[in-house]
Amino acid sequence: MIRILDKSTADKIAAGEVVERPLSVVKELVENSIDAGAKKIAVEIKNGGKSYIRVTDDGCGIAADECEKAFMRHATSKIINAEDLNSISTLGFRGEALASIAAISRTELLTKTRETKTGSKLIIEGGQIIERAPIGCPDGTTMVIRDLFFNTPARLKFMRTDSAESSSVIEFVTDIALAYPDIRIQMINNDKILFATNGRGNRGQTIATLTSSILADKLIPFIYEEEGITVEGYVSGPGESRSSRKNQVFFVNGRVIDSKVIEKGINRAYSDRLFEGRFPICYLFITVSPERMDVNIHPNKRQVRFYDEDAIINTVRKGIITALDSEEAVPTIKEKLKPYNKIENKKDNPKEVRDAVDINSLLSNYEQTKESNKTIFEQNTVETPKEKEIVETQEQIKIAVQDEISKPIFTVTEPKRFDFSSLQIHGQFFGTYIQLSDEETIYFIDQHAAHERIFFEKLMNQFESSEKHRQPLLIPITFEVSHADKEREDLWLTVLEDMGFSLDEFGPLSYRVSEIPMFMSMSEAEDFLSDFTDGIGTYEDIRDNKTLDKIATKACKAAVKANDYLSKEEIKQLITDLDKCNNPFSCPHGRPTFIKITKSDLEKRFKRI
Ligand code: ADP
Ligand code: MG
Repeated sequence: MIRILDKSTADKIAAGEVVERPLSVVKELVENSIDAGAKKIAVEIKNGGKSYIRVTDDGCGIAADECEKAFMRHATSKIINAEDLNSISTLGFRGEALASIAAISRTELLTKTRETKTGSKLIIEGGQIIERAPIGCPDGTTMVIRDLFFNTPARLKFMRTDSAESSSVIEFVTDIALAYPDIRIQMINNDKILFATNGRGNRGQTIATLTSSILADKLIPFIYEEEGITVEGYVSGPGESRSSRKNQVFFVNGRVIDSKVIEKGINRAYSDRLFEGRFPICYLFITVSPERMDVNIHPNKRQVRFYDEDAIINTVRKGIITALDSEEAVPTIKEKLKPYNKIENKKDNPKEVRDAVDINSLLSNYEQTKESNKTIFEQNTVETPKEKEIVETQEQIKIAVQDEISKPIFTVTEPKRFDFSSLQIHGQFFGTYIQLSDEETIYFIDQHAAHERIFFEKLMNQFESSEKHRQPLLIPITFEVSHADKEREDLWLTVLEDMGFSLDEFGPLSYRVSEIPMFMSMSEAEDFLSDFTDGIGTYEDIRDNKTLDKIATKACKAAVKANDYLSKEEIKQLITDLDKCNNPFSCPHGRPTFIKITKSDLEKRFKRI
């Protein structure tokens, strides 16, 4: 027998399609807040959002006579007809979210527009209106969703643990905070404030707020534009990497996406700067005109297709390289300042504190949140917060504010390549470190790491170039290989020739080297060859770029010995050679060649500032 479902059942089924998990609710509500022009958004959840979700904003609010309409299916203020679909600029436009959410929870709306003195309250449970009343509340909208899926037990069973649900909500809110640095976004989980961004539009600072200032301190900011694609980025230098891509976040036109294409651009930028299996930290914000990509290839919209993938790869790669070639990429020697000290220092200078964070408005934001909390709680006797809880939350806000003060301030510019010609040489210490300076900074070079980098790049340049610079040997070098390696001779012999060695067979398993690359000393060549030939047996095809890089990196290390004292001329030569390197700031293994201490670091140490 075919039956028509009653309205309430049909609504629940439809709701299930929009709302799968607490995350879906948070997403819809936050997107509505952004569409409403909010400058502040607070998201609060309890028990992973299963028992309680609150989203408060200071957006345009909903007029009293429109509140009920907002909860009707296909009710939206964002499109009027089908033609509008093409020119839609808002985030959500199906007009289904509120209807769906209200059908499967106990929903409470508190809202006020700027134009009216009083706001409105509406309580809906399982799609039924329970209460509507005028109420005093601040401008903007608060939505409280309690007991999600209370009337659809089957759905409830599919919920994951509290922590799994909350972590996906937190991750989403974090991404939104990064995408909208000019909106103040606060995240509260089980009564604890996890973060509060300051809404000043500074992405570097927002990253510091959302992750840690220690991590953010290590990031190099840059902005790069080419072929109509703009990349704003915060990336780690070669000295800082992770074992997974977890710290790589990409936004394209404000939306978080996963992208193999962007990853490729990153890989190319770091190819000779990091070991295999290590990943840089990268926050990339890419702006590209919407006609150059397809965002509808996957329903979750985390995937996009770029029509010109090479342009994206190249712009990402070049942008990152400008950052990695700048002075900022030189790691700083820093005293580990406890955040507490930092606040103490700044207390002497109240103006600085005010500049760093707008405490008053943060607190007034809190007051406002508290106000709207109060109005919610006053209606609901079960959850009235005790005085103590309010005090505790206030304490948390203070901590959040103090954290904010200690965050580094970033300025994003197009980075300039490091100017080697402005370096003054001061001398060499411990037979290992060279000290230099320019106007504002003292540098130390690890001469061994630098030499390794130069050796490696000269070798690889020669390998790639058709012109070889060789020097004949008076006494040839000879070496032997295994039978297996002899069999594979065609694989590696040409590699050595391309690097600038001339060699011929000399007995069944021996080779004789009569010429070596111009830039190598005899002993370097010997050590290089012996390490190189040791390595060739372990790989299938050493002409493969990655493999070759690996073998050469290792062999360069073997060849370059920690040398002793250098003359001033030799130091000058080392610096000129480094300047010619593609990647002067780290050895092929990713160790830094340079570290620096700035004048202001020194002044801080001597307590001058
Ligand atoms: P949609 O966002 O697709 O229009 P929703 O069901 O999410 O549909 O919301 C319905 C309507 O309610 C919106 O079009 C908007 O007019 C109003 N609305 C929802 N949330 C807010 C908010 N936070 N501030 C102001 N208006 C809102
Ligand atoms: Mg919506």
